[in-house]
Amino acid sequence: TATTTRPRRVLLKLSGEVFGGGKVGVDADVVSDAARQIAEAVRQGVQVAVVVGGGNFFRGADLSTRGMDRARADYMGMLGTVMNALALQDFIEKAGVPARVQSAIAMTQVAEPYIPLRAIRHMEKGRVVVFGAGAGLPYFSTDTVSAQRALETHCDELLVGKNGVDGVYTADPRKDPSAELLETLTYERALNDGLQVLDASAFAMSRDNGLSMRVFGMGEPGNITRALLGEKIGTLVTR
Ligand code: UDP
Repeated sequence: TATTTRPRRVLLKLSGEVFGGGKVGVDADVVSDAARQIAEAVRQGVQVAVVVGGGNFFRGADLSTRGMDRARADYMGMLGTVMNALALQDFIEKAGVPARVQSAIAMTQVAEPYIPLRAIRHMEKGRVVVFGAGAGLPYFSTDTVSAQRALETHCDELLVGKNGVDGVYTADPRKDPSAELLETLTYERALNDGLQVLDASAFAMSRDNGLSMRVFGMGEPGNITRALLGEKIGTLVTR
């Protein structure tokens, strides 16, 4: 087997919950902490792309239950992710590392269009790429887009940062005290057990294409950097 000299390249999924610190809008302290941790990993040689969620602003499914057209509500959700992407870009640059936003919806004043080869080039040059606007398609989620972007930009691993838990458990640790943290997990089991870590289409896409995923808790200071550098924290999900 050929050995590769390419530096480690990873895709980090940060949900909107992270950006809002549990509220609506952007919590600058939380975002700047995440940005500093990302910058630290880049300084140590890791190539990093980020997919940002938008649940701290809007979720299309929620708005549609309140009477909005689903697709239009989903576009609002996607626009929310772009605000998170701009905040993250700003704080990564303040932490001393260049960052670019690529949006799946054209908005050339604020973001580059999504151009996968250019995204790879940015990473090779030590720039963080932040992917905004999801897939640009209603009825998709940023979870599914994380798997898709990780595959298309040839990332070695998908890293999923979670609030309030340290990884994937046998049951919901907030409800069941006997729940145990799993060190490893297969996509089959995640799907069969209906584990709500990521949505089912993200699991299925990762499984079908052999992308491995590490789910880790962000409560411990420095854990984002650890995960980016490849430390074995949290739960590894594989085929
Ligand atoms: N969204 C979409 N297509 C995409 C990505 C996102 O329609 O490709 C919309 C959808 O309405 C979703 C919202 O954007 O609810 C915010 O994204 P998501 O719920 O994935 O964010 P997270 O849960 O990670 O905060």
